[in-house]
Amino acid sequence: MKKKSTKMIDLRSDTVTKPTPEMLNAMIGAIVGDDVFEEDPTVNAFQKKVAAMFGMESGLFVPSGVMSNQLGIKVLTESGDEILIDEKGHIYNYETGGAAFLSGVQIKPLIGKNGKLSVTELENQIKGAFDWEAKTKVVCLENTTNKGGGSCYSEEELSAIRAFAYENALLVHLDGARIWNAMTATGIAPKFFGQIADTISVCFSKGLGAPVGSMLLSSKERIAKARRYRKMWGGGMRQIGLLAAAAEYALDNNWELMKEDHHRAKEFAKTVSECSKLSIDLDSVETNIVIFDLLEEDAVSAQKKLAKKDIHVVPFGPKTLRATFHFQIGDSELERVKTAFRQIF
Ligand SMILES: *Cc1c(COP(=O)(O)O)cnc(C)c1O
Repeated sequence: MKKKSTKMIDLRSDTVTKPTPEMLNAMIGAIVGDDVFEEDPTVNAFQKKVAAMFGMESGLFVPSGVMSNQLGIKVLTESGDEILIDEKGHIYNYETGGAAFLSGVQIKPLIGKNGKLSVTELENQIKGAFDWEAKTKVVCLENTTNKGGGSCYSEEELSAIRAFAYENALLVHLDGARIWNAMTATGIAPKFFGQIADTISVCFSKGLGAPVGSMLLSSKERIAKARRYRKMWGGGMRQIGLLAAAAEYALDNNWELMKEDHHRAKEFAKTVSECSKLSIDLDSVETNIVIFDLLEEDAVSAQKKLAKKDIHVVPFGPKTLRATFHFQIGDSELERVKTAFRQIF
């Protein structure tokens, strides 16, 4: 067999991490039961732990972030309602039209900044007073924003949106796939998010590094409802203590590594800013996601040049690329990436 001289550097997403031996050990040691009967002690305890952390009554472990977002929308809306979201939102762009199909709601995309909404965009969007209007029911927020380049909301921004939602009888769903990154970058406590949102979706399979798993957090009543829909949608699982143990290991051990991911992302972004064929807004790099533009060639051709050096990124527009940092990209990988970028661009 031919020996490879370099290791593949995968910056396509923070979902590409592999379980570490320590995580696998935690999985092997898990005590399990049938979760359809609510008899898996490991997942039961983990749901309680994460819900308490965010100051929510209950949690529901689900296979994916898409499922927890869609369950959140399902329990907050009735068919025919309208939900508001930034045009860059994951629920609008990357969930297969699920909100329309599963909940029968229409999505109104709004133009915010870096994937974030503010009261300015939400004002004058509330409908439902007339028979011919859809009822505006939910504001969907994403923190950190994915397509928005990993930017985070401040406490002030979130409080203002929560106050606006109260005044207008709207509910708030928070897509916190990367809430861990947001908390690392801003220092905002988890309980604050529990106060500003009615439902929260958090993921363990992004930067935290678990192989599978997300969780919907909300009131007892809404989670009981979500549990029924999870079963209906084919997401009822059996001995998932194995997966919950991996997610819990990730939360307890990998969360603290995120500050290094953010630091490396910033270092990489500085190199990008020094490349004459690239352009980047350095201030936009707040967490582990780096989105940058190509001044000369198109994204696919640049992606191929990098792939020849076994460095992998994803196109995020005709002349835009995205690189995402995670704990399995260390300093030596970062150096190799920086060198390659200086050579190519
Ligand atoms: C990845 C992601 C999701 C969905 O997660 P899956 O586990 O891939 O279904 C939802 N929202 C955001 C912002 C994401 O980045």
